Amino acid sequence: MKVSFYDIKAQYDELHDEIDSAVLQVMASGVYTISGGKECPTFEQEIADLHGVKHGIAVNSGTDALRILLDAAGIGPGDEVITPSFTFVASVETILQTGAHAVFADINLETFCLDPASIEAAITPRTKAILPVHLFGQLADVEAITKIAKDRSLLILEDAAQAIGCTHDGIATGNYGIGAALSFYVTKNLGAAGDGGMIITNNDEIALSCRSLRVHGMGRERYYYDQLGFTSRLDEVQAAYLRVKLSRLDEWNRRRGRHANHYLQALSGIGLQLPKISAGNNHTWHQFSIRSPQRDELRSFLASKGIDTMIYYPVPIHHHSPYLNCLIGPTGLSNSDQGSREILNLPVHPHLSDDKVQFVTESIAEFQKKAVSPAGARG
Ligand SMILES: *Cc1c(COP(=O)(O)O)cnc(C)c1O
Repeated sequence: MKVSFYDIKAQYDELHDEIDSAVLQVMASGVYTISGGKECPTFEQEIADLHGVKHGIAVNSGTDALRILLDAAGIGPGDEVITPSFTFVASVETILQTGAHAVFADINLETFCLDPASIEAAITPRTKAILPVHLFGQLADVEAITKIAKDRSLLILEDAAQAIGCTHDGIATGNYGIGAALSFYVTKNLGAAGDGGMIITNNDEIALSCRSLRVHGMGRERYYYDQLGFTSRLDEVQAAYLRVKLSRLDEWNRRRGRHANHYLQALSGIGLQLPKISAGNNHTWHQFSIRSPQRDELRSFLASKGIDTMIYYPVPIHHHSPYLNCLIGPTGLSNSDQGSREILNLPVHPHLSDDKVQFVTESIAEFQKKAVSPAGARG
């Protein structure tokens, strides 16, 4: 049996009539970009409503959403921004691009998100902001992080690229700081036919600034510029495509949740670390991540059975050459390193059949039986 890690084509196949019609309507309208288009502003409103925030500003990618949000928040040279090293590179890359310093704090190994004690320890007089990453489909410890930010007068910028629709006590990402960055990259829970992203915020000034930054820093008047900006629009075709998929996001997340529950039950008590859902959080299962000290052997075993897995992320950011000079907080990054050595992401996408999920759990159980039996049993 072949079990693929993603199945993007199956998403299209499920919706092809609606997608074709929405996309062709844009093509026929002759209006392809934000100015004059109606798909993009409607999509922005729908995503803002989904998160209970005032503004959505659609841009070209999640990375651009972070980059533009950092600029709008006034982060720049001399500032320190605390962020995890156990993340996708864009969280850190965009901080450095502003001229600010990234300061790495460690993660909690049960949630893979920032450990509040490690954040606290990393604060210096130059700290301007915390940039938590809501990894794998649930929010970081937003209660502790908002408390730290309030006590120490720091900004919070949320990397919500993997956390569309994620909530804590019913309050969604986008409401915990100055703004959040969403990604619509193909493989995300809501994926475009290519790249896309959005900043969501309740802050009128930030929203205005982001709207200006995405078109070269243009002010209210056309061809008058207030700041250095970017070219980062979301195309009308992408917005139309994404709006169709948005109508299925709940249903697709429910299917992910069903697979995740199956994994949580079938894989408990066999010597693996299972992912933890923090109290008050919903989990949208962008990834289902287990940990095993025998991760590489387990991964090869599953591959031999036709089961695709992934490693997010194999090497934390602080080990890559452009990031060797980033600062590391006093608690060190041992959990980030351990997470990278032990993590294995299992297929959890909405178009997996229950049979396949069962096959994955049986195959893992088969491996574990050999792996945890007395020494020498594996050869
Ligand atoms: C995907 C992702 C990004 C960047 O989004 P793109 O749309 O690919 O530019 C940023 N941060 C995290 C945690 C991501 O997973």
